[in-house]
Amino acid sequence: MPRHARSDRPAKRQAGTSLTPRPSKPVPAPVSPGAAPYNLKAMADLQFERAAELIGLNRELRDLLTTSYREIQVRIPVRMDDGAVRVFTGYRVQHNQARGPMKGGIRYHPHVDLDEVRGLAALMTWKTALVELPFGGAKGGVTCDPKALSAGELERLTRGFTAMIDPVIGPFEDVPAPDVNTTAQMMAWLMDEYSRRHGHTPAVVTGKPVELEGLPGRDAATGRGCVDVIKAAAKDMGVPWPKATAVIQGFGNVGSWTAKLLAAEGVTVIAVSDSRSGYLNRNGLDIERLAQHRKRAGSFEGLTGVERISNEELLALPCDLLIPAAIEGVIHAGNAGQVRARVIVEAANGPTALEADDILAKRGVSILPDILVNAGGVTASYFEWVQNLQRLAWEEERVNQELERIMARAYRKVWAAAQARRISLRTAAYCTAIDKVVTATRLRGLA
Ligand code: NAD
Repeated sequence: MPRHARSDRPAKRQAGTSLTPRPSKPVPAPVSPGAAPYNLKAMADLQFERAAELIGLNRELRDLLTTSYREIQVRIPVRMDDGAVRVFTGYRVQHNQARGPMKGGIRYHPHVDLDEVRGLAALMTWKTALVELPFGGAKGGVTCDPKALSAGELERLTRGFTAMIDPVIGPFEDVPAPDVNTTAQMMAWLMDEYSRRHGHTPAVVTGKPVELEGLPGRDAATGRGCVDVIKAAAKDMGVPWPKATAVIQGFGNVGSWTAKLLAAEGVTVIAVSDSRSGYLNRNGLDIERLAQHRKRAGSFEGLTGVERISNEELLALPCDLLIPAAIEGVIHAGNAGQVRARVIVEAANGPTALEADDILAKRGVSILPDILVNAGGVTASYFEWVQNLQRLAWEEERVNQELERIMARAYRKVWAAAQARRISLRTAAYCTAIDKVVTATRLRGLA
C-alpha cells in the first residue's frame, strides 16, 4: 500500500459507539446500484471523529464542533407562471464562526434536506480553516427541481429565499455563494434583494457576475484549484505529470472547468459524464468540442466519436486520476472494489463514503480529500469578498496566481501532516483544520 493510501480505521471501538451512520430523515434514492443510504452529515461526523480521536479532542469540543451554531428552515411561497402558488422548503445552516463570518454555497436540488445541508455546512468550516481563510462554515439549499422551473420562477424563488434568510446573512455574518444548480445570475438576484433592505451590499454574496462586482476567474476557480492541487501532489502520488489520464464525473461548473484546465495542461481526459450518461474515448476527448456541443445542444446527446457508458462504468475505468465532480456518495462499499484509478481527486463534496475509504486504502488507491481539493471556490470567493469591501478589483492573472499559491500551500501542509502521523490525507486534512478551529475557539474564550 503506498504511504498516502492509508486506512485510518480505528483498531478498537469504544463500547456503545457505532461507526454506522444513522440517518435521521428519509434518505434520497441511492445514487447507484449497491449504494447504501448516504447521509452526508453522519459521514462528515465520522470523518471528524477519526481525526478528533487522533488529536485527543475532549468531548465538549467534539459536541460543539459536530453541531450547528444555528439552523433555519423556511417555507417559501412562490407565484408560478400559471398563477398558482407553490411553497418550497429552504434551509440555511450555520455551522461555526470561530474563525470569522460564515461562508458557504446555496444548492437547488430535489434531494436537498436538513441533514445534507448540515453536513455541507460542517465541511465548509473545515475547508476554510484548512486553506486558512478568515471564515467559518455555512451552507444553504432549497428542495426543488430547478430544471422544471422557468427563469421567472427561479428569480421569485431566489428573492423569496433571500428575504427569509435576510436576518441571519450579511457581509460580517454569513456570506452565501453558488453551489449545485445555482448560478451567478441567482447570486445577482440575492445581492439585489438584500440591497433593497440594507443599501448596496455586494459583499453579502460571492460568485456574482463580473459586471456586478463579481471576480474575474471565480467561475473557473473551483476547477482551477482542483488542478492546482493535482499539480502539487502528482509527484508524491506517483502520477505522471502532465502525461496522466483522467476520468471526470459531472460536467457542471466544477467538472467542466477541471476538464478544460487539465486538457490545457496536456492531461488526457478519457471520459466525462453528466447525470444521464458517460462518454469515453480512450485516446482522449476533445474537451472544447464537447463543451461547445453541450452548450449548443443543452446535453451531450448526439455527440460523435465517443463511446456511451454508464456512470457506474465510468467510475471503474482504469486511469491515473478519477475525479468525482457531481454529487455525494457516488463511491461506496458496493463499487469501491471496482475502482481502478491510481488517485481519487474529490472535486465534489463528500463523493466517497467512509467504508469505501477503507476498501480503497487496502487496494492502494489514494484519495485527495474534498475539503482540500475543492477549496479553490471558497478561496476565490474570499478574494471577491475582500475586493467588495475594499471597492477595488484584481486582474484575473493575479486571482489565479494567488489561488495556486494558497492551494499548493494547503496541499503541502496536508501531505506533511499525513507523513508525520502516518495517516491518510483525509484524516491529515481534518486534523489540520480542526486544530485551527479549536485554537480560535480557545483564544476567543469559548472553550
Ligand atoms: P453543477 O450543478 O454545476 O454540476 C453538477 C454536475 O453533476 C452536472 O453535470 C450534473 O449533470 C452532474 N450530476 C448530477 N447528478 C449526477 C449523478 N447522479 N451522476 C453523475 N453526474 C451527476 O454543480 P457544481 O457547482 O459543479 O458542483 C459539483 C460538486 O462540487 C458539488 O458536490 C458541489 O458541492 C461541489 N463544489 C462546488 C463548488 C462551486 O464553486 N460550484 C465549490 C466547491 C464544491
